Amino acid sequence: MHSEEPTTYLNSKDKCLICFGKPEKWENGQNVDLIKHHVSYFPQVIAFVHYQCHAKIHDPNKPLTQFIQYEKDDSIKFYNEKEEDRKRNQENQNAKVN
Ligand SMILES: [Zn+2]
Ligand SMILES: [Zn+2]
Repeated sequence: MHSEEPTTYLNSKDKCLICFGKPEKWENGQNVDLIKHHVSYFPQVIAFVHYQCHAKIHDPNKPLTQFIQYEKDDSIKFYNEKEEDRKRNQENQNAKVN
């Protein structure tokens, strides 16, 4: 099943893959978590990036295509399957309760 395929992380979540910068901080000094960008969905390949850098990857005029290695339908397929998994899990749980 797709959901059991290993997920590859291209970088750690304390350094942005696009600008190599550190996570930004809130005014209270807390780190702003980097966003998970899917480079590929099948198998899952994930990069951690700043919010602004993520916007650059998906720039409608000039997307960073080296970081988008999936077909445009893959994300829809991926989230549909996730939804299927969720429903299935819920059914399993209901089965246990009943
Ligand atoms: Zn960045
Ligand atoms: Zn993305």
